[in-house]
Amino acid sequence: MAKYTGPKCKLCRREGAKLYLKGERCYTDKCAFERRPYAPGEQGESRRKQSEYGQQLREKQKVRRMYGIMENQFRNYFSKAARQRGVTGENFLKLLESRLDNTVFRMGFATSRAQARQFVLHGHILVDGRKVNVPSYQVSEGDTISVKDASRKKNFIKDVLEINAEQTPPEWLSVNMEKAEGTVVSLPERDDIDQPINEQLIVEYYSL
Ligand code: SF4
Repeated sequence: MAKYTGPKCKLCRREGAKLYLKGERCYTDKCAFERRPYAPGEQGESRRKQSEYGQQLREKQKVRRMYGIMENQFRNYFSKAARQRGVTGENFLKLLESRLDNTVFRMGFATSRAQARQFVLHGHILVDGRKVNVPSYQVSEGDTISVKDASRKKNFIKDVLEINAEQTPPEWLSVNMEKAEGTVVSLPERDDIDQPINEQLIVEYYSL
C-alpha cells in the first residue's frame, strides 16, 4: 500500500478523531478537526450508519495513521501480539506504544510522531548513549533515551524542547527536559495509552 502524502488534517476528519499529526498546531484552535469535526467531502456532514466491518476498518486505519505505520508492518505487529501471552488487543497497543519514535514523541523531544521518526532516522536520538536510527526499535525497561549533544544545539531541536518544556510525560517515562534525556521506567500498560482507541475492533478486523 502506497504511503499517503495528502493533507494530514484530512485524515483526522476522515477517521473522526484527532490523530495529532501536525505537532504544535494540533493543540491550537487552528486544528481543522476542531473547526470541522466531520468527514471531508460533500457527504461529510451527514452521518451514515457504518457496517460492523466498516467500524472495524476505520478503527484499524485510525490507529495505523495515528502511529504512522504502513499496513504490512501494522499487520506484523498484530501477528506478534497474537503470539504473545495475554490479551491480544492490549499486547498490540503496547507494542506500538513501545516503538522508539513514539517514545521520543511521548518524552516531548518531538512535537509529533512524524517528527520523532525523522529525528530518529537522521541520527539525533541515542539509546543508552548509542545512536539508534530505527524508528520501530522496541524500547526496554531501563533504557535511557536522549537527544545527541550536537543535535541539541540545532535550532529546530531547541525550539521543540522549549515548546514542550512544561509537558508532563506519561507515567511509564521519566524525563529531564533540560538534559533532553529520559528513562523508560517501565513498559507501557494499556491504561497509559490515553487515546480513544477500541482495540477490540482491530482484533476483530484481523480475525476475519
Ligand atoms: Fe489532526 Fe492535528 Fe490537523 Fe487537528 S491540526 S486535524 S489534530 S493533524
